[in-house]
Amino acid sequence: MRLKFICQAMLLAGVLTACGGNNSSTKNTVETSSAVSVESSADGKVVQTDVVRKVTRSNKDSTTAQSSKEPESSTEVTSEAASKTTVSETAAVEETTTVKETQAETEAKKSEVKEAGEIGLDPSWQYASFSKINSGKSVLYKPSENGNGITIAVNAGHGTKGGSSQKTQCHPDGTPKVTSGTTKAGATTAIAVSEGMTFADGTPESTVTFEMAKILKDELLSRGYNVLMIRDGSDVQLDNIARTVIANNVASAHIALHWDSTNADKGAFYMGVPEVDSYRSMEPVASNWKKHESLGKSLINGLSSNGTKIFSKGRMEMDLTQTSYSTVPSIDIELGDKTSDHGKDELKKLSKGLADGIDSYFGR
Ligand SMILES: [Zn+2]
Repeated sequence: MRLKFICQAMLLAGVLTACGGNNSSTKNTVETSSAVSVESSADGKVVQTDVVRKVTRSNKDSTTAQSSKEPESSTEVTSEAASKTTVSETAAVEETTTVKETQAETEAKKSEVKEAGEIGLDPSWQYASFSKINSGKSVLYKPSENGNGITIAVNAGHGTKGGSSQKTQCHPDGTPKVTSGTTKAGATTAIAVSEGMTFADGTPESTVTFEMAKILKDELLSRGYNVLMIRDGSDVQLDNIARTVIANNVASAHIALHWDSTNADKGAFYMGVPEVDSYRSMEPVASNWKKHESLGKSLINGLSSNGTKIFSKGRMEMDLTQTSYSTVPSIDIELGDKTSDHGKDELKKLSKGLADGIDSYFGR
């Protein structure tokens, strides 16, 4: 529908070449269209070809990722493109043709990183029916070049309004929790998404985990990974089960970012799979716990070699909803606590450590 509208708009603008629905070669579409608009020497048309490219890519990537719904994605992409049109039209008045071409290339590269598409919870996915809050969308990003095809789910902990007023089942088989944390051992249900702690300086944990997620996303993209931002804003209406199930179906690994609620600046650690027979023999934990542990160790090694303080042996056992529903290597990493430095430089250092750990886990 929207593509049709854009095609009509382009017909009016006299640009006919880019409307063939050419999914197999979006790059050619852009190049051809750029040439046309340069020849016609009309400002703004280079940017219009960019719109088509974005929409085409968006549709293609949503299909690849088996997204069940993608109209919101297209809306966002189109409006973003529209705002760029205004800026570029103004700029183009004073630019030579050569500079305009460079601008279009840059825009195209940027769009490749940004617009891979939104992904919601598909109700047919395994364990999806255990989720209570799932109207939100995660966002998939892809590197502009040299992608390695590995998708990392970066899960900024907390940040779901109303998340603490709902409860979800701790384990898919209904058995009680085997360790005590936010939810006590023996409980069969837990808060769907907790509020998270507040740092000693008053910053909510959810703000810092999101800042961390954005920095880690950039680091991973630069290393060729696709990044699934489970929460790509201050709020996402996805509970811990929905987040986990989306990661299970889209990503090769799932990393949830957290800071602990102590006041000791004690260092980083991962939440390990409890050494309890009944827990480790329950699916999907039984088939995946070794991978979780291996990923956790890799992350701690990466952090440690980048100078991050590590708490104890870098591991604390915890029966988490995330672990209990994960079918891909999956870790809740606690990067410090309420009194830890969470300035930009520190987050950058942490992102390098985490990315080194991910590289190491995937043998890169
Ligand atoms: Zn947390």
